[in-house]
Amino acid sequence: MVYIFLFILGASWGSFLNVVAGRIQAKRSFLGGRSACTHCGKQICWYDLFPVLSWLVLLGKCRFCNHRLSTRYILVELASGALFALGVGMFVSVASAALYLSVVSFFVVLFLYDFQTYIIPDRIVIPGIIVIGGLNAMVVGAPISLLLGALCGGAWFLVQFLVSSGRWVGGGDIRLGVLMGVLLGYPMIFLGLGLAYVGGSVVALLLIAAKQTTIKSKIPFATLLLPATFVAWLWGEFIWEWYRTIIGL
Ligand SMILES: [Zn+2]
Repeated sequence: MVYIFLFILGASWGSFLNVVAGRIQAKRSFLGGRSACTHCGKQICWYDLFPVLSWLVLLGKCRFCNHRLSTRYILVELASGALFALGVGMFVSVASAALYLSVVSFFVVLFLYDFQTYIIPDRIVIPGIIVIGGLNAMVVGAPISLLLGALCGGAWFLVQFLVSSGRWVGGGDIRLGVLMGVLLGYPMIFLGLGLAYVGGSVVALLLIAAKQTTIKSKIPFATLLLPATFVAWLWGEFIWEWYRTIIGL
């Protein structure tokens, strides 16, 4: 029951995040105004705003002009629903629930933004560092570890930025590294980075195998860093133990 409840809550939140991401991209205020069809411009009725269900009822089309709506909407709703259900253990206190909600929100919006534009915008990532870092310090209570993590995460990308004169990574990656650090802390930040590179190689090989890309194609890097950070955050200890048994430490 609690999983179903969290899933529905998450899916609804995901439908809000979709709107936020879209409007930040379009540089519009995300608090005022109603959602409208991007094709015919008609306002979406309140009874068509139920997450997942509305999409299924309308078969992913606009009620008025039959224009096909992006599958992004339902994918984000399903993903947010699943993420909420995964975080069931975090909804135990107000502070850790707020932390979990912030992580899911900032990560989903950053993921969507980077996926579509290859940009990690400061006006999302900087508030993210402050909110997530602050809440995490309250929940975990290890400010030194979090600061050290932020330092390592930022430095990791700063070095690459300086060595390549900004060709390999951008300034947004440095700030994203800091965000990873304030969430994961030291030394878990290195597991997050490691997972991103391992995951990135697997994704790249799969895409090349499927002939969707070539070795020179650019992959939006944050779309690897964010899921890797999330996995390291929730299951880092477990993965670390597993890795130690594998290499026989
Ligand atoms: Zn329409």
